[in-house]
Amino acid sequence: MIHGTSAPRQAPWREELARAITNPQDLLATLGLPATLLPAAERAHALFPLRVPRPYLARITPGDPDDPLLRQILPLAAEEHVAAGDLRDPVGDLAAQVAPGVLHKYQGRVLLTATGACAVHCRYCFRRHFPYAEANAARDDWRSAVTYIAENPSVREVILSGGDPLTLADDKLVVVIRRLEAVDHVQTLRLHSRVPVVVPSRVDNGLLAVLHKTRLAVVLVLHINHPREIDQDVASACGRLRAAGVTLLNQSVLLAGVNDEADVLVGLSERLFAAGVLPYYMHMLDRVQGAAHFAVAEDVALGLMRAVRDRLPGYLVPRLVREVAGAPAKIPVPEVGGSLCYG
Ligand SMILES: *Cc1c(COP(=O)(O)O)cnc(C)c1O
Ligand code: SF4
Repeated sequence: MIHGTSAPRQAPWREELARAITNPQDLLATLGLPATLLPAAERAHALFPLRVPRPYLARITPGDPDDPLLRQILPLAAEEHVAAGDLRDPVGDLAAQVAPGVLHKYQGRVLLTATGACAVHCRYCFRRHFPYAEANAARDDWRSAVTYIAENPSVREVILSGGDPLTLADDKLVVVIRRLEAVDHVQTLRLHSRVPVVVPSRVDNGLLAVLHKTRLAVVLVLHINHPREIDQDVASACGRLRAAGVTLLNQSVLLAGVNDEADVLVGLSERLFAAGVLPYYMHMLDRVQGAAHFAVAEDVALGLMRAVRDRLPGYLVPRLVREVAGAPAKIPVPEVGGSLCYG
């Protein structure tokens, strides 16, 4: 008897996620980097595991330990360092949780930590210590999250974040979208995702249909820090999303050794625009334990943003912001603790 029932073929993007590099030895070998980096990489990997999909890896220059894309994913000894003032929950997410996986910090919008999973592990991530297992809106089929939203008519926008919501399968996204659509006062669905950047094949016809066939306005905030992260595959994924009616924005984190140069930031904005994406936020690094080596001083950050503003139209200048626990919005730099000053 011929056995014809093989497992249904996975979507290509799922295979791509499964093929991600998750051990430091493979990473160094694939990129032709010195084995002397290995012991530190192994130790930092034990604190927060390495994860990098191959399409992103392909944009890294082999043999260059200072490559700005590599720096975002390579575990380093510096992560073992605990600096004074570093926090495990720097932005007060745990205090802002109003239901499992529901963060309500700002008026009019709530953020759902849809999943703990990410396609890539960014070494600077402020969520590297976040206890997702206990705080995941999807674990109970979104019911308590949607109940909270339904009971709060001021909520117009629901943000799926994480983790990364586009690591969820289309049918899981459809479940939450249908539930949100049933709440009359919800108008906008926003996704915060790095998946289309690191695995552009995620933007397949199935996902495009899900995002196109909803009454909600859909905004996708990508997370790209360096112009070289945008290759032709990423640009065409963005084109398909735009054609499906999705508004595309980008947020970056200002990172030492990655994008703390005016030329890089200008190049990033230009490349984003060419791909149909507008820059939205430039985040100051959150003081998360293990990421202090990425910090850029505030005066340096302001100088960089001035240089960018001098060279680009206003719509290509992202807003430099800092997240302050307990504040009613992201705070523009340098207004922390002070009044507006346009001197
Ligand atoms: C960043 C964030 C938002 C979105 O803020 P915007 O300024 O609208 O982009 C919403 N909720 C939480 C909890 C956030 O951290
Ligand atoms: S994809 Fe986003 S949430 Fe995930 S590790 Fe990177 S920065 Fe953090």
